[in-house]
Amino acid sequence: MNIHEYQAKAVLKSFGAPVANGAPILTPDDIDSAVDSLPGPLWVVKSQIHAGGRGKGKFVESEAGEKGGVRLAFSADEAKEHARAMLGNHLVTAQTGADGKQVNRIYIEDGADISRELYLSILVDRASGQVAFVASTEGGMDIEQVAHDTPEKILTLPVGDTVTPADAAALCDALKLEGQAREDGMTLFPTLFEAFTDKDMSMLEINPLIVMEDGHLRVLDAKVSFD
Ligand code: ADP
Ligand code: MG
Repeated sequence: MNIHEYQAKAVLKSFGAPVANGAPILTPDDIDSAVDSLPGPLWVVKSQIHAGGRGKGKFVESEAGEKGGVRLAFSADEAKEHARAMLGNHLVTAQTGADGKQVNRIYIEDGADISRELYLSILVDRASGQVAFVASTEGGMDIEQVAHDTPEKILTLPVGDTVTPADAAALCDALKLEGQAREDGMTLFPTLFEAFTDKDMSMLEINPLIVMEDGHLRVLDAKVSFD
C-alpha cells in the first residue's frame, strides 16, 4: 500500500524531518483557503497520484494546459489557476500507462530555493531482510536509470538496529554534504530511520532530498510504501 506525498510528508514532519509548509486540496472548495494559507512568494502546486514522474508528466485533457503535474506559481492567483486546471483531470507519467491517473487531490507547498537535488531511500533488502539506505548525488532523476548508467554514483549502505554516527557520516560523504547540510544530515538520517521502523514502512524514497540555497536540507518529495 502506498500513501500520497502529502500524507508521507506529514508523517516525516511528525518525527522532526524538515518539510515545507503545505496544504492539501481535496475538493475545489479547498483551493482558495489552501493557497491563501501559504505566504509565497513561490507556491508549488503538486498533483497527488500514486505514480512518480509527475513533474515531467502531461495531462490528457487540453483544458489542463501543457504543463506537467508539478507546477510553480509566482502569485496566489496563478497557484489557484494551476490547482483548478489540474483537479479532476488525468495525468500521464512514465509510471501511469497511457490513460493516466485522475488527479483527485492536490498538495500546495512553499517553494524552495534549490541548490542541489539528491536521492535518498530506505528499504528492506529482500534477500537478507536487512534495512539499507540508498544514496546518490543524482537526485530528481529515475534512480533505476542512474543505477544502469552510473552505478558508481550510488551508495547502498546496510544498517543495523540504529543509524550510527559512522553510518550517517558515510551517507553525508556519499551525498557530498558539507557545513550546515552535513550537520542537518547527521540528524536527518537517524530521524528518517526512526520513522521507517516506527511506522513499519517497507520503502521510504525521498527524490529529491534537496540542499537549499541557505545550506539546509529539505525533504522535497516523499514516497512511502507499506507491505
Ligand atoms: P515527481 O518526482 O513526481 O516528478 P517531485 O515532487 O519530485 O515530483 O517534483 C518534481 C520536481 O519539481 C523536483 O525535482 C523539483 O525540482 C521541483 N519541485 C518540487 N517541489 C518543489 C518545491 N516545494 N519547491 C521548488 N521546487 C520543487
Ligand atoms: Mg520526485
